[in-house]
Amino acid sequence: MKFEKFSIYIMSKKNTSKHDKAYMKMAREWGNLSYCKRKKVGALIVKERRIISDGYNGTPSGFENVCEDEEGNTKWHVLHAEANAISKVAASTQNSEGATLYVTLSPCKECSKLIYQAGIKRVVYYEAYKDTTGLDFLKKAGVIVEQITETDE
Ligand SMILES: [Zn+2]
Repeated sequence: MKFEKFSIYIMSKKNTSKHDKAYMKMAREWGNLSYCKRKKVGALIVKERRIISDGYNGTPSGFENVCEDEEGNTKWHVLHAEANAISKVAASTQNSEGATLYVTLSPCKECSKLIYQAGIKRVVYYEAYKDTTGLDFLKKAGVIVEQITETDE
């Protein structure tokens, strides 16, 4: 009985990572669509094996697609990829309760609040952001946080 449960766990674990890699690969492609020069970040929100939202960092709809000012600093009104993906869900008939967020850069503290508040239960990231305050907050809030460092090419 115990063994049976264990093998089921291994199987689901294996399946998950195959899909995780595929979703992360897509999130990275999405990040490439960003107009921002300093950092290109992509995000996907997946619920019950369906992509319910996507986003990349950029200016709000209707604003000029330029993320950096003359000094090369990111403009304050640039939305992060996660924030864009979450607001897209908010504007739809979907909800992100219990969903997984795939993001190519680990979330900042501002986005972490949104992620938690949006009911997202799991965050999978690719590259670690220098400030881990966001990740620490998510872990503390009971959100599962995982890093994927390879995607099948
Ligand atoms: Zn952020």
